[in-house]
Amino acid sequence: APPAPPSAVRQVKLDKECELRVEVSPDAPLRLRLLNGTAEIFGTEIPPQIWLNFPPRFKFAVRRFPSWTVFTWYGATIEMDGTTETDYTADETPMISYVNVHAVLDARRNRAKASPSDSDLSQGPRVIVVGPTDSGKSTLSRMLLSWAAKQGWKPTFVDLDIGQGTITIPGCIAATPIELPIDPVEGVPLDMPLVYFHGHATPRYLILHRKTFCTWSLLVAYPLYLLVPTFIHSQVASLGLWAIFSVLYVFTPSYVVHFSANVDLYKVLVKELAQILERQFAGNVESRAAGMVINTMGWTEGVGYELLLHAIDTFNASVVLVLGQEKLWSMLKDVLKNKGNVDVVKLQKSGGVVSRNAKVRQKSRAYKIREYFYGLSNDLSPHSNIVNFSDLCIYRVGGGPPAPRSALPIGAEPATDPTRLTPVYINRDLLHLVLAVSYAKEPEEIISSNVAGFIWITDINLESKKITYLAPSAGSLPGKYLIMGSLTWYEP
Ligand code: ATP
Repeated sequence: APPAPPSAVRQVKLDKECELRVEVSPDAPLRLRLLNGTAEIFGTEIPPQIWLNFPPRFKFAVRRFPSWTVFTWYGATIEMDGTTETDYTADETPMISYVNVHAVLDARRNRAKASPSDSDLSQGPRVIVVGPTDSGKSTLSRMLLSWAAKQGWKPTFVDLDIGQGTITIPGCIAATPIELPIDPVEGVPLDMPLVYFHGHATPRYLILHRKTFCTWSLLVAYPLYLLVPTFIHSQVASLGLWAIFSVLYVFTPSYVVHFSANVDLYKVLVKELAQILERQFAGNVESRAAGMVINTMGWTEGVGYELLLHAIDTFNASVVLVLGQEKLWSMLKDVLKNKGNVDVVKLQKSGGVVSRNAKVRQKSRAYKIREYFYGLSNDLSPHSNIVNFSDLCIYRVGGGPPAPRSALPIGAEPATDPTRLTPVYINRDLLHLVLAVSYAKEPEEIISSNVAGFIWITDINLESKKITYLAPSAGSLPGKYLIMGSLTWYEP
């Protein structure tokens, strides 16, 4: 018989500066309450005596935070009701160093607030959190924001992680002001985030290594070899084949960039977002002084590293927090030492961080899209709309996996310029794609415009030339132009 789940209701006593780490069960809910003392979940204080409900992992959208930490500065007793995958208490946490960072940031915010008329001094800290995947970047960003909000600041949260971002669906970079400590269950409030659509869950280059490339060329060459008429001596042909192979092997660079899901577009969007925020800050002393916390992708090597430097530069970051990677820290410290006024701080990764494999990440992306349409606990009712093909103007922004030729107007070549717009003709290839609705008034404005929301293509009828899509609400779309990427979703 399977081992019995841990008994339903139990109490856990936490000593000061200890944390309770809980991994939610895949299929059973958990509730938890604070009996005495004080405690917080990812920087947000939990109210005494009130039950907090954590839905099971695979139920709704909570995939983003499948594990929770209840941390106490001064000691607390927690009561848990329900089953968990695992739960244990830990007394070694990097929380003290995190809260020290917060104290420094807080002092800088106060300093900025004290001189509202000075254009330089009035700028609060601009913190960027970098590190490899699963180092706890999102969690640290969340704590810094919640601690700041608790003290009355309204910092801006910028999420540049197009793979596992927390503000909106994947494939986007976004920013939103945080006015209250972030709810441990509901996450970041989605009132009016500023969102730019990249359209792909990674800007990563697909790199074909030399060996892969040569193996593939051999696979292509072999059928050709079979076509060589038999009257040519077969040894000559095979020698020829080997010669071609060797030449290819020697002259192929160590990697061949097959396609990129558009690094350049990513940079352009980061710049657009930074410019808009800069403009907003110029007119808002309060949010200027509160500064921002920027979460980044876990891609820290090669082009990923270049993108980090680009983000640090574009947002004029004043504090770079490096989580769990000594090498990255020393590289950034070296590069940024001439820039002046940039503090590069090394922080320890928490032992509680749960690593997620590609499948879990894929799933969490799908949940995030589901959450957009249906709400965290199925509390939203999206609308299915049917319109004519001619009612939608869909564009694709260059780069990315080339659009199928069939989706492009006759004669159009798959785009190569990273920011070139290509109109997309509707066909079955669009099925299950998630498209962004741009605020652009003209096609030329698409790249520089943020998006209002998303639709999901659920049916395409080629005979009646009608397209069915799911949108968060009924009625016409807030914009005429739609942007297509490679983001798809299949309802489970
Ligand atoms: P990515 O690069 O993929 O965005 P990340 O570096 O932002 O990852 P997080 O999302 O912050 O990492 O953390 C990964 C997971 O670990 C999350 O599910 C989070 O809930 C969990 N986690 C983080 N810190 C703790 C902790 N102290 N105790 C328990 N779980 C934690």
